[in-house]
Amino acid sequence: MMVVSTVLLAAVACAHAMRSVGGCTNLPTVEECTRAALRIRNQCLRACVLAQCSGVTVRCGDMDTVVGCAEPRDGGLRGGFTKSATVGSCQIPLDEVRWCELPVPASCKPLIMVHELAHTCGWHHDVQGMGVPGTPGKLFWRDECD
Ligand SMILES: [Zn+2]
Repeated sequence: MMVVSTVLLAAVACAHAMRSVGGCTNLPTVEECTRAALRIRNQCLRACVLAQCSGVTVRCGDMDTVVGCAEPRDGGLRGGFTKSATVGSCQIPLDEVRWCELPVPASCKPLIMVHELAHTCGWHHDVQGMGVPGTPGKLFWRDECD
């Protein structure tokens, strides 16, 4: 009983940084990512994204990421992307994601991250109705943040 209480308290009180390389400065915490991931309705995809919140490596600032983040796209700015020779699946996700560090409100960051992590788990924009933020491929800030 004592142990359970202590663990719960720790989960509420602490914020853990997502694992990153390249000096990422604009990331959601693991806890924010986890909270946003709970909206995903597909069980395999949700479990995958939840694990990715603490398991994926977020890459920022290297040349590939900077170039990819600057690529123009329909309907807004790129929040992040995956770059891999293989496609992930919800059972075997990609181990890293590129993050563009957009200057968005704090409430948007976990939504963008969950969207990008869903891509690492094999989700793509055509697959709708799973509760992934930013379906089909862009976030409507005013509707989905806050
Ligand atoms: Zn996307």
